[in-house]
Amino acid sequence: MAASLQPEVEELCKKVVKMDVVRCSDARDSWRWKLDVDGRFSVAATRDWIDRQVLKSNNFKTRWCKFIPRKVNIFIWRVSWRRLPTRVALKEKGVGLDSVDCPICGDGEEDLQHLFFRCKVASALWCRIFRWLEVQPYEGADPVEVLRWCDKSRMGANARLVLEVVCSSTLWIKQT
Ligand SMILES: [Zn+2]
Repeated sequence: MAASLQPEVEELCKKVVKMDVVRCSDARDSWRWKLDVDGRFSVAATRDWIDRQVLKSNNFKTRWCKFIPRKVNIFIWRVSWRRLPTRVALKEKGVGLDSVDCPICGDGEEDLQHLFFRCKVASALWCRIFRWLEVQPYEGADPVEVLRWCDKSRMGANARLVLEVVCSSTLWIKQT
């Protein structure tokens, strides 16, 4: 045998040994999604896998609510990574701005907390939203935490879903 074929022969021998443990059945061949114990593809299983394997540094579970538009879901994902171009964030990235103050009220720097909760306009909007929903208001100022607050609320599953849809949509409306 030529010396140059020796590695390939050794590799072939290893494969043949491995094939000995393979058991074939008479069942039809089929596709199996390895991320799910049932072997069926699902977006939820894929999303969970991405959260565990790829997005390890973010402790916010990726959300995808089928009752809100895709653009709002994507926006919420960006919020969870705190990747919105607020004036403070832009200045941190080196964008030259005259001021980082809120252009709406001028009463504070425009960061995520101000944009979504502390701004007078945002605060008034949330006040009306919570009054309309007849729920105790969220008292924090973190756009990520408000969605966790929805999850923890003592409501039925459907009411919690409505609360999540309204809060997600309100966050999206506030940034537009
Ligand atoms: Zn403001």
